[in-house]
Order: sequence, then structure tokens, then C-alpha cells
Amino acid sequence: MTVTDPVTTQAGLGFELGEELSLIQDEAKKFADDVLLPLATKHDREERIGDDVYRQIGDLGFWGLTIPEEYGGAGFGNVALAVVLEELNRACAATGVAVSVHNSLLCAPLMKFGTDEQKQRWLPQLASGEVIGAYSLSEAGSGSDAAALAATATRDGDGWVLNGTKLWVTSGDRAGLFLIYVRTNPDVPKAKGITAFLVPGDAPGLKVGKHEKKTGIRGSATVEIILDGVRLTDSDILGEVDRGFPVAMDTLAGGRIGIASQAVGIGQACLDASVKYAMEREQFGKPIGHFQAVQHKIADMSARLEASRLLVRKAAWMRDAGMEVNRQSSEAKMLASQAANFCADETVQIHGGAGYTDHFHVERLFRDARITEIYEGATDIQRLVIARSLLK
Ligand SMILES: Cc1cc2nc3c(=O)[nH]c(=O)nc-3n(C[C@H](O)[C@H](O)[C@H](O)COP(=O)(O)OP(=O)(O)OC[C@H]3O[C@@H](n4cnc5c(N)ncnc54)[C@H](O)[C@@H]3O)c2cc1C
Repeated sequence: MTVTDPVTTQAGLGFELGEELSLIQDEAKKFADDVLLPLATKHDREERIGDDVYRQIGDLGFWGLTIPEEYGGAGFGNVALAVVLEELNRACAATGVAVSVHNSLLCAPLMKFGTDEQKQRWLPQLASGEVIGAYSLSEAGSGSDAAALAATATRDGDGWVLNGTKLWVTSGDRAGLFLIYVRTNPDVPKAKGITAFLVPGDAPGLKVGKHEKKTGIRGSATVEIILDGVRLTDSDILGEVDRGFPVAMDTLAGGRIGIASQAVGIGQACLDASVKYAMEREQFGKPIGHFQAVQHKIADMSARLEASRLLVRKAAWMRDAGMEVNRQSSEAKMLASQAANFCADETVQIHGGAGYTDHFHVERLFRDARITEIYEGATDIQRLVIARSLLK
């Protein structure tokens, strides 16, 4: 399958998804409603996503959605990924982030910067979901200031030895392949001495450390990764030695479109729940949706979500067209994550006391929405990226 009609048409600007993308959206919607939604509370309470869900995502081809057909993928681009991620996250954000990280933070840089040998070795397994991908940039002392990372790779004969502790690794408990950033040259300005390594999940010396207890997206494992003398070769380097930081930044520009899609999905779930509850719940002898104050909340949620969705799809389309998207992906992530949190807050309010209990899934949405303003660059870092791209 190839993408023939993303968001724009040859005649000019258009907003229809086209036949192929509509089909993909329908598949994602059906899976989200039939499989993920009934399991989302279980994922949240058990802090785990079952193997069967991972398998079904593979059957649908979503692990390989953006991988070319020659490697066993579906050959779609970022617009399709945004559409699918919105649907999955509408039902279960813990599952959605795993698919986003796998496609945007591992498969995308591997396709863009990888050698033929690296692609042959990894992409078919990533496309089927046999191997799940993880991205490991952050450490205890380096979050927003990602270039301050301290883990190292040192030369040892022909190879490299990796040491250090990475933090906050999404899907790190089950990943078969990690993209790990380490310092290879301490004698140059900090962003210029970092290298990206493709590290197999079963590499001797790579250990999974503590699992974080989180406010939301609890089904998604967030773990510490300990590198204790992990031996790798030059063939495991993604891109060039000491040139890993630009790989990290370019990758995050794409990843932010994924998180923005997640935010739109969570926000949509909040809007859907609000509309339903506003029609059902009666006070003062009528449905609360008849009160103007509640109508205003619903109108504001809808407008902010629709604006966010358009920004997300435009950024995705630009990335597919090979354009620079630093500003657009940050704008999409900033506004969509703020919209998700606005919607989450309003939906709890609309549900009243029941919204503050586990009688309704809106309390989970409220917790899940919060992370979208933090990971892959906190909101103030998105502002920084946007302003920097304008104030040149
Ligand atoms: C659930 C979860 C999953 C994650 N998954 C991954 C993953 O898979 N891989 C990975 O590498 N990382 C991951 N992260 C890490 C995540 O990307 C970082 O938490 C994020 O980048 C923020 O870094 P920090 O937590 O160190 O906050 P800090 O950098 O300490 O920031 C704290 C606050 O200070 C503000 N701030 C910092 N610098 C500035 C500045 N210059 N101007 C204005 N404000 C500023 C920030 O906006 C923020 O509000 C994950 C985090 C979480 C919580």
C-alpha cells in the first residue's frame, strides 16, 4: 500500500483524508473501540499492557505503519501515523504512546540515518512487532537540557563500551531494540560529542532498572536502563560518531507530531464523554447539556481540538513532504497538549463528583492528559523551539 492522497489535493488545499487513509482510520477506530477501550482501565490498574494487544497491533500492521513495504511495513507516512495514533490514544493512551515511540522515535531515525545493513537487520522485525523499539535520551541530570547527558561510550580496540544510567525509557521493559544516546567525546562542546547507538535489548550488560510509578499512562512501562559495560561495534552506530545530537533533535521533531496526535486523541475522548454525559445527566428537571455553561465548555473543547488536529495533520503532511517542521511540530504539540489538558479538566467538571471517581474513565483521561505537556519536550521547551525558529 502506498499513500496517494494525504491531506492536500493537487487542486489546492483539501481536508478529506482520501480513500486509503479513511480505511486505515476505520481499522484503527474499530480496534480502539472493540479491543483497547474495554481494556484501558485494566491496563491502568495493572500497570501493564497484555502481550495479546501487542500481537493484535502487529496483525493490523501498525508497528510497521511507516516502514517501507520492501521491509515488510505498510509504507505509509506521518499523516497516516497521526490518524492512527489519534484513534488508539482516544481509547488507551498507554498503548498509544508505545506505538508512537516505536514508529516515530525508533523506526523513523533508523529509516533516515541507518545503513542498508542496519535496515535489513532490524526493519522487518520492527515492522512485524517481533521487536519493539525504545528511545533513550534522558538521564537524571539531562531532561530539557538533553545535551548534558553523562552516559559514555569509550573506544576499546575496534569496538565501544557503554556505561551509565538512562532514565524514563518508555517501553524499556520489553524493547528488543533501543536507540541510546551517549557521550563519545568529553572534550568538545556538549552537543558535539554525543553518538547514537542501536542497542539490542538482549545485549550483555544492558539491564532494566526501576519502574516508575506514574500519575497516568500507567499501562506504559517507564523504566531506568543501566548500561554496565555494554560492548558494541561501529556497525551499531546510527549516523556518525559525535553527530548523534542532530539525530536526536530531528527525531524529536517527528516524535512531537506523535505526542500531539496522542493529545488530540485524549482530548477527543474527553469531548465524547462530555457530550454523552451532558445528554444523560439530569439536574433541575433537564439534561445538564441544556445549561449554557455546560454548552460553552463543550463548544470550547470542540474548537480547540479541531484547531489542534489541523495543526497536527499539517505538520505531519509537511514532514512527509520532506519539509523542515521544527516550528510546526512544536506548535502542534504545544497547542494539542494544552487542549488535551483543558478538555480533561472540563470533562471532570462536567461529570461532577462522579468524574472524580473511578465510576467513569474521565478520571483516567485527566491523569493521562498531563504527560502530553511534559515528555518529548515540556511546553516551555516547545515555546523555546518556536521562538528560536522565528528570532533568527
Ligand atoms: C512518562 C514519561 C515517559 C518518558 N519517556 C521517555 C523516553 O522514552 N525516552 C526519553 O529519552 N525520555 C523520556 N521521558 C523524559 C522526558 O522527555 C523528560 O521528562 C522531559 O524532557 C522533561 O525533562 P525533565 O523531566 O528532566 O524536566 P526538566 O528539564 O528538569 O524541566 C523542569 C521544568 O523546567 C522547565 N524548563 C527547563 N528548562 C527550561 C528553559 N530553558 N526555559 C524554560 N523552562 C525550562 C521545563 O519546561 C519544566 O517545566 C519520559 C518522561 C516521562 C515522565
